[in-house]
Amino acid sequence: ARVDNPYAGADVYVNPEWSARAAAEPGGSAIADEPTGVWMDRIAAIDGVNGGMGLQDHLDEAVAQAGGQPIVFQVVIYNLPGRDCSALASNGELGATEIDRYKTEYIDVIADILREYESDANLRVSAVIEIDSLPNLITNVSPRPTATPECDTMLANGNYVEGVSYALSELGSIGNVYNYIDAGHYGWIGWDDNFGASADLFQQTATHGEATVDDVTGFIVNTANYGPTVEPYYTIDESINGTPVRQSSWVDWNRYVDNQSFAQGFRQELVSTGFNSNIGMLIDTSRNGWGGPDRPSGPGPRTDVNAYVEGSRTDGRIHAGNWCNQAGAGLGERPTAAPASGIDAYVWIKPPGESDGASSEIPNDEGKGFDRMCDPTYQGNPRNNNNPSGALGDAPLSGHWFSAQFQELLANANPPV
Ligand code: BGC
Repeated sequence: ARVDNPYAGADVYVNPEWSARAAAEPGGSAIADEPTGVWMDRIAAIDGVNGGMGLQDHLDEAVAQAGGQPIVFQVVIYNLPGRDCSALASNGELGATEIDRYKTEYIDVIADILREYESDANLRVSAVIEIDSLPNLITNVSPRPTATPECDTMLANGNYVEGVSYALSELGSIGNVYNYIDAGHYGWIGWDDNFGASADLFQQTATHGEATVDDVTGFIVNTANYGPTVEPYYTIDESINGTPVRQSSWVDWNRYVDNQSFAQGFRQELVSTGFNSNIGMLIDTSRNGWGGPDRPSGPGPRTDVNAYVEGSRTDGRIHAGNWCNQAGAGLGERPTAAPASGIDAYVWIKPPGESDGASSEIPNDEGKGFDRMCDPTYQGNPRNNNNPSGALGDAPLSGHWFSAQFQELLANANPPV
């Protein structure tokens, strides 16, 4: 039987490959023993690419690390047909119609391997399900100005819903797997237009095909994103000279200013749409620390609402829609079990130091495109309200090691390293 919160009372698996890359960086040994997600980002990753570890190798290593005590192994399921339909940096290998390959060559193969470890009473597999997929079907489809043809296609053909529900039911049939569905982040789903509609879509997906809500342990927010866990110096409920914080340019009518309040609010919404009342949330805190010299040390001036929010916010981005290799970012809270009500854990799913996407076109056989949101000279699109990208230059392909970013993350860590 599953426990309520798999992270409670358990260690979390340290990926030796990431750990070695971190330790090889100046100063990196200070965090090289932190647990990070293991990404199954293409079919070949199941066996291991370029001589690296495959899923089975990681599971064997996790059993060894456990030493007879409970351990959480964090695996990211990330290979949907038509993947990442609103961006280009992580488009992936499967075309929009290749749902059968997703099922038979990817999910079934992963499930068969995981099933071999089902009887290990100490192993708890936390499966993060398909980043950046379902919320795109709410926010980035016609007739919205943010629509992309690729997201319109994935809504029309149903393959995101089909794929996610298949992943939930297959992995959910394994007794020690805990499914956490990706729920975007506060700066995406926090607006009224997106909040309830996303929860409804998650509920429909979790009851589609053979999936049931019992296959869902919870949801993860902020995966690979940069939004703070908690903004310490301002809240959504304040007003400055009679103008609510909600109406500032930065907040722009969002109901939330940070991910923890969003995760707690969205958890309630999900329960009200039919998910189990004990679902728990994860927050990816790998790169949302925003420490360093530019971090405010208290609230901004109460002269007007924009001056107040601009002076208060620790999020150092130009716009909350910016997502690629953000300049000035730092490591966030170290991974922690049960840090707040409704939150199963702070986790590092995006391994710090791995790029979000290349800053210019780089030919590759990984299905990775070039997204100009990763180009520091780009002036933006409707999805970041036409703001500069805020990205670091000279970045390699998504998933590849980006030493300069790792160094920034260390230097700007909050809490400091
Ligand atoms: C990339 C994956 C990579 C993951 C973790 C994603 O953006 O597309 O290839 O494994 O990030 O770094």
